[in-house]
Amino acid sequence: MQIPILCYHSHIITHSGYTGNGHVALEADLKLIAAQGKTVIPLTRVVRALLAQENSPALENAVVITFDDGSKADYLPIDHPEFGPQPGFYAIMSNHAAIYPDQHPDLHATSFVIACPNARHNMDQKCLFGLNWMNDDWWPQAEASHLLSIESHSWDHNNSVCDGVPAGTGDQFYSVNNYAMADHQIREAATSIAEVSGRRPEVFAYPYGHVNQYLEHEYFPDYQAEHAMRCALTTKPDYVTPDTSPWAVPRFVHGEHWRDPDALIAIINGQA
Ligand SMILES: [Zn+2]
Repeated sequence: MQIPILCYHSHIITHSGYTGNGHVALEADLKLIAAQGKTVIPLTRVVRALLAQENSPALENAVVITFDDGSKADYLPIDHPEFGPQPGFYAIMSNHAAIYPDQHPDLHATSFVIACPNARHNMDQKCLFGLNWMNDDWWPQAEASHLLSIESHSWDHNNSVCDGVPAGTGDQFYSVNNYAMADHQIREAATSIAEVSGRRPEVFAYPYGHVNQYLEHEYFPDYQAEHAMRCALTTKPDYVTPDTSPWAVPRFVHGEHWRDPDALIAIINGQA
């Protein structure tokens, strides 16, 4: 088992081409992954294999897709103030499945969303365009669809624009290094997300990809009865193998770890 988990952001658009637009990249990549003889499968299947220490042959050519931060463009079209209409990740997947039903029979992606409504509002106003892209109206429909699942990307991303993040401690997740902070960012966030999405998250994506010793080796393994998470994802660019820690599962990020189709071909063929 050597599986790449890919990560895209639907709201970060820095130009209209592949490198700076996840919508353009995702549409191209679904075709590219199939052309390389690989198949997109749900994240949960890899989590199950990792926890059971299975090395199923069905996982040999697998690729997993994830979306971070949970803007509504994971599920719905948006009109970007600078780069115009974008289809949204769900429509890209749905169109691909309709046109090429045999390429990825279990096509699926996981959206990692931020729990706190006020934090999302502040991010929308201060980091985006104030167009209500960070609302949670779409979570139940996305979760009920067969193409997307909603999982947790923390309470407030420990983003410095959010109320309650102490001055000087924001914009990184390493400072979440004690029980009270971890309980808030992980257990409380999952409870809150479940109230909207309809299902309690079981996978956590570390904001900024930042994992620390406390979270990986104490909080996640020791308090599992409380938080009910099964694994946690970083953004260290590497593959999931049987030796991967369930609390530090690596991922490759579009725009950071690959910027063109050739680099993605190398990643999905185990050459990164
Ligand atoms: Zn994030």
